[in-house]
Amino acid sequence: MQKVYDLVVVGAGIAGCSIAYTAQKQNKKVLIIDKASTPATGGSGAAGAFISPKLGKESSLLNLTNLAFGYSSNFYKNNFSKQFDQSGIVRLPKDAKDATNFEYYKTIIDADSKILTPDELKQFGVKSQFDSLYFKDGGVCDAQGICKAMVKDVEYLQIELTKLEHKERHWIINSQIEAKNVVLATGYIGYKDLLEYMGINGIWGSRGDFYTDSNIKVCMHQNISVSALKNGVIKIGATHVRAKNPCMACDGEPLKGLIASAKELADIRELKLKETFCGMRSSSRDHFPTIGKIIDAKFMLESYPNIKKGYNRAPLKYFDNLYIFNGLGGRGFVFAPLMAKWLYEHIFEAKDIDSTVSPDRLFLKWARKL
Ligand SMILES: Cc1cc2nc3c(=O)[nH]c(=O)nc-3n(C[C@H](O)[C@H](O)[C@H](O)COP(=O)(O)OP(=O)(O)OC[C@H]3O[C@@H](n4cnc5c(N)ncnc54)[C@H](O)[C@@H]3O)c2cc1C
Repeated sequence: MQKVYDLVVVGAGIAGCSIAYTAQKQNKKVLIIDKASTPATGGSGAAGAFISPKLGKESSLLNLTNLAFGYSSNFYKNNFSKQFDQSGIVRLPKDAKDATNFEYYKTIIDADSKILTPDELKQFGVKSQFDSLYFKDGGVCDAQGICKAMVKDVEYLQIELTKLEHKERHWIINSQIEAKNVVLATGYIGYKDLLEYMGINGIWGSRGDFYTDSNIKVCMHQNISVSALKNGVIKIGATHVRAKNPCMACDGEPLKGLIASAKELADIRELKLKETFCGMRSSSRDHFPTIGKIIDAKFMLESYPNIKKGYNRAPLKYFDNLYIFNGLGGRGFVFAPLMAKWLYEHIFEAKDIDSTVSPDRLFLKWARKL
């Protein structure tokens, strides 16, 4: 072993690719590994990858999501304009009651938005009885294309992480790769041993790409998402089923319901299936991303058994230079660029991670339930 990487990233979904890109841009020696031969074969490859704000009552999750929305739309526009179609996104009310909230949403979301009437929506190819909110900065990413573009200048190896050892201040991966820092960005179906306390769970979803001649000019989201027409293709996608096994959830009909819902939202005539994608996205229990140092849970439980009874004063012991980047939920492409920036600053510039996304928030709650 001669080469020592500043950073090895495990997992080449949007999380892993974003932190690898960010570190490589700062001239760090970076390696990204994935069990697949190419980036974005997990949840990230299946994603519709819409860049859309969060609507709802004001909350810290809403504020964080919309901070990430503003950051990511600029980030993709400035760095990956070929893989980001910034056609704008319309958020459609579910019903008349929901529609009454939209004026309020407009006032609390810090993003450029305007109300569009049903007649105005029609010109974009959107069907709605209600006034809706249009965000010009929203859009949709080419999910695989953007992950690939991010790591095009990063060393990539097809390796499944099976063994992680800490020796003389460095991490040794599968007895063959040496790193000063390791980020685990393994998504839902990943390297779980050390991450149990974070309670990452999976939501299954599917996406279909369809050829159509329907001129949909804008992306839209209600219960599902439909993209603007690009190169004769629209994407229809949703994540909805909480499941442990994606194949069971799929039940052989991954697009069931999606097409019918899309036709209710958009002025769609013919659809010819181009390709189907399905996958699991990983969420945390409180729907915040999970970014930062990993606690040595085994050590903590052995050293402070009273933690299980609610003792909360034990100093947390972390694995040295080992980090998690996960739990991005249904907004991986929205969160990843900003979270990668924060994680980079945490690893290499010793900045604190925001407590709302730090995995520390999950440890004591988990321990009390053991
Ligand atoms: C159908 C669907 C639609 C979605 N729509 C949107 C959307 O419109 N907008 C949005 O922002 N988000 C959307 N999401 C969510 C988004 O896709 C996820 O949040 C995001 O993909 C999570 O990325 P990730 O990098 O954490 O995980 P993943 O993309 O799952 O990547 C994890 C990677 O780790 C690798 N790996 C795992 N274990 C190992 C190991 N031991 N060794 C080596 N490699 C390993 C896997 O092969 C995989 O490549 C959607 C998700 C789905 C499923």
